Amino acid sequence: MARKRADPEEPVSVWSEKDLLNSEIVDALVIILRSRGCYWSRQSGCLMCGYNNDCLGTVTAENLVKQFEKAMEKYSGQEYIKIYTSGSFLDPREIEPEARDRILEMAGGKARKVLCESRPEFVSRSNMEPALAHVKELEIAVGLETANDDIRARCINKGFQYADFESACNTAREMNASIRTYLLLKPPYLTEGSAITDVIESVKIAGPLCQTISVNPMNVQRRTAVESLWKRGLYRPPWLWSLVKVLEEGSRLTDTRLISAPSGGGSRRGVHNCGECDEAILKAVETFSLGGAGPDAFKGLNCVCREHWQDYLDIEPLMGTTGDLERLSPP
Ligand code: SF4
Ligand SMILES: [Zn+2]
Repeated sequence: MARKRADPEEPVSVWSEKDLLNSEIVDALVIILRSRGCYWSRQSGCLMCGYNNDCLGTVTAENLVKQFEKAMEKYSGQEYIKIYTSGSFLDPREIEPEARDRILEMAGGKARKVLCESRPEFVSRSNMEPALAHVKELEIAVGLETANDDIRARCINKGFQYADFESACNTAREMNASIRTYLLLKPPYLTEGSAITDVIESVKIAGPLCQTISVNPMNVQRRTAVESLWKRGLYRPPWLWSLVKVLEEGSRLTDTRLISAPSGGGSRRGVHNCGECDEAILKAVETFSLGGAGPDAFKGLNCVCREHWQDYLDIEPLMGTTGDLERLSPP
Protein backbone atom coordinates (compact mmCIF):
# COMPACT_ATOMS: atom_id res chain seq x y z
CA MET A 1 0.00 0.00 0.00
CA ALA A 2 1.41 3.43 -0.97
CA ARG A 3 2.23 5.64 1.99
CA LYS A 4 0.52 9.02 2.28
CA ARG A 5 2.97 11.82 1.53
CA ALA A 6 3.82 13.69 4.72
CA ASP A 7 3.05 17.41 4.96
CA PRO A 8 6.32 19.34 5.59
CA GLU A 9 4.40 21.92 7.63
CA GLU A 10 2.71 19.41 9.98
CA PRO A 11 4.50 18.10 13.07
CA VAL A 12 4.57 14.31 13.43
CA SER A 13 2.63 14.52 16.70
CA VAL A 14 1.91 16.68 19.71
CA TRP A 15 0.53 15.70 23.10
CA SER A 16 0.56 16.65 26.76
CA GLU A 17 1.87 14.37 29.50
CA LYS A 18 2.84 14.52 33.15
CA ASP A 19 6.48 14.95 34.12
CA LEU A 20 8.52 16.20 37.05
CA LEU A 21 9.90 19.71 37.07
CA ASN A 22 12.11 20.41 40.08
CA SER A 23 10.29 17.71 42.10
CA GLU A 24 6.86 19.03 41.16
CA ILE A 25 4.45 17.10 38.89
CA VAL A 26 3.59 19.36 35.94
CA ASP A 27 2.08 19.07 32.47
CA ALA A 28 4.66 18.85 29.71
CA LEU A 29 3.95 19.52 26.04
CA VAL A 30 5.68 16.95 23.83
CA ILE A 31 6.31 17.93 20.21
CA ILE A 32 7.72 15.63 17.53
CA LEU A 33 8.93 17.67 14.58
CA ARG A 34 9.34 16.21 11.12
CA SER A 35 12.97 17.00 10.25
CA ARG A 36 15.25 15.93 7.43
CA GLY A 37 16.34 13.12 9.68
CA CYS A 38 19.33 11.91 11.57
CA TYR A 39 22.59 11.97 9.59
CA TRP A 40 23.65 8.69 11.24
CA SER A 41 20.52 6.98 10.03
CA ARG A 42 21.48 7.90 6.44
CA GLN A 43 25.11 6.96 6.89
CA SER A 44 24.64 3.63 8.69
CA GLY A 45 21.86 3.68 11.30
CA CYS A 46 20.96 2.09 14.61
CA LEU A 47 19.45 -1.41 14.33
CA MET A 48 16.25 -0.55 16.18
CA CYS A 49 15.63 2.88 14.67
CA GLY A 50 12.62 3.48 12.48
CA TYR A 51 12.57 7.23 13.06
CA ASN A 52 13.49 7.89 9.44
CA ASN A 53 9.92 6.73 8.67
CA ASP A 54 8.85 10.09 10.14
CA CYS A 55 11.37 12.24 8.24
CA LEU A 56 11.21 14.14 4.99
CA GLY A 57 14.32 15.12 3.02
CA THR A 58 12.77 18.31 1.65
CA VAL A 59 11.89 19.98 4.96
CA THR A 60 13.17 23.58 5.10
CA ALA A 61 13.93 25.89 8.00
CA GLU A 62 10.66 27.74 7.36
CA ASN A 63 8.74 24.44 7.35
CA LEU A 64 10.20 23.58 10.76
CA VAL A 65 9.20 26.92 12.24
CA LYS A 66 5.71 26.47 10.80
CA GLN A 67 5.48 22.97 12.29
CA PHE A 68 6.42 24.36 15.67
CA GLU A 69 3.86 27.16 15.40
CA LYS A 70 1.18 24.57 14.57
CA ALA A 71 2.25 22.43 17.51
CA MET A 72 1.99 25.45 19.80
CA GLU A 73 -1.69 25.76 18.91
CA LYS A 74 -2.05 22.92 21.43
CA TYR A 75 -0.12 24.83 24.08
CA SER A 76 -2.17 25.41 27.20
CA GLY A 77 0.16 26.83 29.81
CA GLN A 78 2.61 23.89 30.15
CA GLU A 79 5.79 24.91 31.97
CA TYR A 80 7.83 22.20 30.32
CA ILE A 81 8.17 21.75 26.53
CA LYS A 82 9.93 18.71 25.08
CA ILE A 83 11.02 18.90 21.44
CA TYR A 84 11.98 15.72 19.59
CA THR A 85 13.11 15.52 15.98
CA SER A 86 13.82 11.80 15.51
CA GLY A 87 17.44 12.85 15.26
CA SER A 88 19.54 15.68 16.70
CA PHE A 89 17.98 19.08 17.30
CA LEU A 90 21.50 20.48 17.78
CA ASP A 91 22.84 19.19 14.43
CA PRO A 92 22.87 22.31 12.20
CA ARG A 93 22.53 20.11 9.08
CA GLU A 94 19.28 18.69 10.42
CA ILE A 95 17.82 21.83 12.01
CA GLU A 96 19.31 24.99 10.54
CA PRO A 97 20.50 27.52 13.15
CA GLU A 98 17.83 30.06 12.10
CA ALA A 99 15.05 27.51 12.70
CA ARG A 100 16.66 26.21 15.91
CA ASP A 101 16.94 29.72 17.38
CA ARG A 102 13.41 30.75 16.38
CA ILE A 103 11.91 27.55 17.82
CA LEU A 104 13.84 27.89 21.07
CA GLU A 105 12.86 31.54 21.32
CA MET A 106 9.17 30.60 21.02
CA ALA A 107 9.49 27.68 23.45
CA GLY A 108 11.60 29.65 25.94
CA GLY A 109 9.12 32.52 25.84
CA LYS A 110 6.43 30.17 27.19
CA ALA A 111 8.00 27.42 29.27
CA ARG A 112 10.28 27.32 32.30
CA LYS A 113 12.16 24.31 30.95
CA VAL A 114 12.81 23.13 27.40
CA LEU A 115 14.13 19.72 26.39
CA CYS A 116 15.64 18.84 23.04
CA GLU A 117 17.37 15.67 21.93
CA SER A 118 20.79 15.26 20.39
CA ARG A 119 23.55 12.82 19.69
CA PRO A 120 26.52 13.67 21.94
CA GLU A 121 28.78 14.95 19.15
CA PHE A 122 26.52 18.02 18.78
CA VAL A 123 26.49 18.92 22.47
CA SER A 124 29.21 21.53 21.99
CA ARG A 125 29.67 25.06 23.29
CA SER A 126 29.07 26.56 19.86
CA ASN A 127 25.76 24.72 19.37
CA MET A 128 24.55 25.28 22.92
CA GLU A 129 25.36 28.95 23.41
CA PRO A 130 22.57 30.17 21.08
CA ALA A 131 20.19 27.63 22.60
CA LEU A 132 20.90 28.85 26.12
CA ALA A 133 20.35 32.45 25.06
CA HIS A 134 16.65 31.69 24.52
CA VAL A 135 15.61 29.33 27.32
CA LYS A 136 15.63 29.55 31.09
CA GLU A 137 16.47 25.90 31.70
CA LEU A 138 17.77 23.62 28.95
CA GLU A 139 17.72 19.84 29.14
CA ILE A 140 19.36 17.71 26.48
CA ALA A 141 18.21 14.15 25.93
CA VAL A 142 20.97 11.81 24.75
CA GLY A 143 20.39 8.22 23.61
CA LEU A 144 23.40 6.57 25.21
CA GLU A 145 21.51 3.22 25.14
CA THR A 146 24.19 1.42 27.19
CA ALA A 147 27.40 2.32 29.01
CA ASN A 148 29.04 -0.72 27.41
CA ASP A 149 30.94 0.26 24.24
CA ASP A 150 30.93 -3.30 22.92
CA ILE A 151 27.16 -3.74 23.21
CA ARG A 152 26.53 -0.26 21.77
CA ALA A 153 28.71 -1.06 18.76
CA ARG A 154 27.76 -4.69 18.08
CA CYS A 155 24.10 -4.87 19.11
CA ILE A 156 22.97 -1.32 18.30
CA ASN A 157 25.45 0.15 15.78
CA LYS A 158 25.15 3.50 17.51
CA GLY A 159 28.32 4.99 16.09
CA PHE A 160 29.72 6.70 19.17
CA GLN A 161 31.66 5.79 22.29
CA TYR A 162 30.99 6.22 25.98
CA ALA A 163 33.78 8.83 26.02
CA ASP A 164 31.70 10.98 23.61
CA PHE A 165 28.77 10.83 26.01
CA GLU A 166 31.03 11.74 28.95
CA SER A 167 32.35 14.73 27.10
CA ALA A 168 28.78 15.88 26.21
CA CYS A 169 27.80 15.62 29.90
CA ASN A 170 30.83 17.66 30.95
CA THR A 171 30.07 20.38 28.40
CA ALA A 172 26.43 20.50 29.49
CA ARG A 173 27.41 20.73 33.15
CA GLU A 174 29.85 23.60 32.46
CA MET A 175 27.04 25.44 30.68
CA ASN A 176 24.37 24.77 33.32
CA ALA A 177 22.29 22.54 31.10
CA SER A 178 21.04 19.17 32.32
CA ILE A 179 21.26 15.78 30.63
CA ARG A 180 18.55 13.16 30.31
CA THR A 181 20.10 9.84 29.36
CA TYR A 182 18.15 7.18 27.49
CA LEU A 183 19.10 3.56 28.09
CA LEU A 184 17.78 0.82 25.84
CA LEU A 185 16.40 -2.26 27.58
CA LYS A 186 17.13 -5.31 25.45
CA PRO A 187 19.03 -4.55 22.27
CA PRO A 188 18.98 -7.49 19.85
CA TYR A 189 21.43 -10.40 20.34
CA LEU A 190 21.31 -10.14 24.15
CA THR A 191 19.48 -12.63 26.34
CA GLU A 192 16.79 -11.23 28.64
CA GLY A 193 19.14 -11.77 31.61
CA SER A 194 22.13 -10.03 30.05
CA ALA A 195 19.88 -7.14 28.93
CA ILE A 196 18.79 -6.66 32.56
CA THR A 197 22.40 -6.74 33.78
CA ASP A 198 23.44 -4.29 31.06
CA VAL A 199 20.87 -1.66 32.08
CA ILE A 200 21.63 -2.01 35.80
CA GLU A 201 25.37 -1.65 35.12
CA SER A 202 24.71 1.33 32.85
CA VAL A 203 22.63 3.08 35.52
CA LYS A 204 25.51 2.64 37.97
CA ILE A 205 28.11 4.00 35.52
CA ALA A 206 26.17 6.83 33.83
CA GLY A 207 24.13 7.93 36.88
CA PRO A 208 26.73 10.31 38.34
CA LEU A 209 27.06 12.16 35.01
CA CYS A 210 23.45 13.10 34.38
CA GLN A 211 20.32 14.38 36.08
CA THR A 212 17.75 11.89 34.73
CA ILE A 213 17.98 8.37 33.33
CA SER A 214 15.07 7.14 31.26
CA VAL A 215 14.93 3.41 30.54
CA ASN A 216 13.47 2.75 27.10
CA PRO A 217 12.37 -0.84 26.69
CA MET A 218 12.63 -1.88 23.05
CA ASN A 219 9.60 -1.13 20.92
CA VAL A 220 9.89 -2.94 17.57
CA GLN A 221 9.63 -0.24 14.90
CA ARG A 222 8.69 -0.79 11.29
CA ARG A 223 11.30 -1.31 8.57
CA THR A 224 14.19 -1.95 10.97
CA ALA A 225 16.72 -4.74 11.43
CA VAL A 226 15.09 -5.54 14.79
CA GLU A 227 11.71 -5.92 13.10
CA SER A 228 13.14 -8.43 10.68
CA LEU A 229 14.55 -10.51 13.58
CA TRP A 230 11.26 -10.21 15.48
CA LYS A 231 9.19 -11.33 12.49
CA ARG A 232 11.27 -14.51 12.27
CA GLY A 233 10.92 -15.28 15.99
CA LEU A 234 14.55 -14.37 16.60
CA TYR A 235 13.78 -11.50 18.97
CA ARG A 236 11.30 -10.97 21.81
CA PRO A 237 10.79 -7.47 23.25
CA PRO A 238 11.60 -7.40 26.97
CA TRP A 239 9.25 -8.60 29.68
CA LEU A 240 7.63 -6.01 31.92
CA TRP A 241 9.08 -7.98 34.86
CA SER A 242 12.54 -7.16 33.48
CA LEU A 243 11.67 -3.46 33.41
CA VAL A 244 10.44 -3.66 37.02
CA LYS A 245 13.69 -5.36 38.01
CA VAL A 246 15.96 -2.74 36.41
CA LEU A 247 13.96 0.14 37.92
CA GLU A 248 13.92 -1.45 41.39
CA GLU A 249 17.60 -2.36 41.40
CA GLY A 250 18.74 0.70 39.47
CA SER A 251 17.06 3.07 41.92
CA ARG A 252 19.13 1.56 44.75
CA LEU A 253 22.36 2.26 42.84
CA THR A 254 21.96 5.93 41.99
CA ASP A 255 20.62 9.18 43.35
CA THR A 256 19.91 10.29 39.79
CA ARG A 257 16.25 10.33 38.90
CA LEU A 258 15.29 7.08 37.20
CA ILE A 259 12.18 6.87 35.02
CA SER A 260 10.57 4.97 32.18
CA ALA A 261 7.78 5.88 29.76
CA PRO A 262 7.55 2.80 27.55
CA SER A 263 6.15 3.32 24.09
CA GLY A 264 4.12 0.40 22.84
CA GLY A 265 3.93 -1.01 26.39
CA GLY A 266 1.62 -4.03 26.65
CA SER A 267 1.64 -4.68 22.88
CA ARG A 268 3.38 -7.50 20.97
CA ARG A 269 5.93 -5.06 19.60
CA GLY A 270 6.60 -3.41 22.97
CA VAL A 271 7.59 -4.42 26.48
CA HIS A 272 4.97 -6.95 27.59
CA ASN A 273 4.02 -9.80 29.89
CA CYS A 274 1.12 -12.21 29.56
CA GLY A 275 -1.54 -9.61 28.79
CA GLU A 276 -3.40 -10.07 32.10
CA CYS A 277 -1.03 -8.10 34.31
CA ASP A 278 0.43 -5.61 31.80
CA GLU A 279 -1.87 -2.70 32.59
CA ALA A 280 -1.26 -2.86 36.36
CA ILE A 281 2.50 -3.00 35.85
CA LEU A 282 2.52 -0.11 33.37
CA LYS A 283 0.53 1.93 35.89
CA ALA A 284 3.10 1.11 38.58
CA VAL A 285 5.92 2.17 36.22
CA GLU A 286 4.16 5.51 35.74
CA THR A 287 3.75 5.98 39.51
CA PHE A 288 7.43 5.09 40.01
CA SER A 289 8.48 7.56 37.30
CA LEU A 290 6.52 10.42 38.82
CA GLY A 291 8.60 9.88 41.90
CA GLY A 292 6.02 9.56 44.64
CA ALA A 293 6.58 6.01 45.84
CA GLY A 294 10.09 4.90 44.85
CA PRO A 295 10.49 1.11 44.44
CA ASP A 296 7.41 0.65 46.68
CA ALA A 297 5.40 1.43 43.53
CA PHE A 298 6.02 -2.21 42.54
CA LYS A 299 5.06 -3.77 45.88
CA GLY A 300 2.34 -6.39 45.71
CA LEU A 301 2.49 -6.87 41.92
CA ASN A 302 2.23 -10.51 40.95
CA CYS A 303 0.92 -12.82 38.24
CA VAL A 304 1.38 -16.42 37.16
CA CYS A 305 3.58 -15.20 34.33
CA ARG A 306 6.23 -14.10 36.80
CA GLU A 307 7.31 -17.75 37.05
CA HIS A 308 7.38 -18.06 33.26
CA TRP A 309 9.63 -15.02 33.13
CA GLN A 310 11.93 -16.55 35.74
CA ASP A 311 12.03 -19.81 33.72
CA TYR A 312 12.78 -17.79 30.59
CA LEU A 313 15.79 -16.19 32.34
CA ASP A 314 17.04 -19.62 33.47
CA ILE A 315 16.51 -21.46 30.18
CA GLU A 316 17.85 -18.89 27.66
CA PRO A 317 21.55 -19.38 28.49
CA LEU A 318 21.11 -23.19 28.42
CA MET A 319 19.44 -23.02 25.00
CA GLY A 320 22.27 -20.87 23.64
CA THR A 321 19.88 -18.55 21.79
CA THR A 322 18.62 -15.02 22.14
CA GLY A 323 15.53 -15.82 20.03
CA ASP A 324 11.95 -15.74 21.31
CA LEU A 325 11.71 -19.01 23.27
CA GLU A 326 7.92 -18.98 23.21
CA ARG A 327 7.94 -18.93 19.41
CA LEU A 328 10.98 -21.11 18.78
CA SER A 329 9.99 -23.99 21.11
CA PRO A 330 8.02 -26.86 19.60
CA PRO A 331 4.37 -26.97 20.84
S1 SF4 B 1 21.07 8.16 16.52
FE1 SF4 B 1 18.88 8.13 17.08
S2 SF4 B 1 17.77 8.92 15.29
FE2 SF4 B 1 19.88 8.43 14.64
S3 SF4 B 1 19.75 6.36 13.78
FE3 SF4 B 1 20.30 6.14 15.94
S4 SF4 B 1 18.37 5.96 17.12
FE4 SF4 B 1 17.90 6.71 15.02
ZN1 LIG C 1 1.04 -11.78 33.76
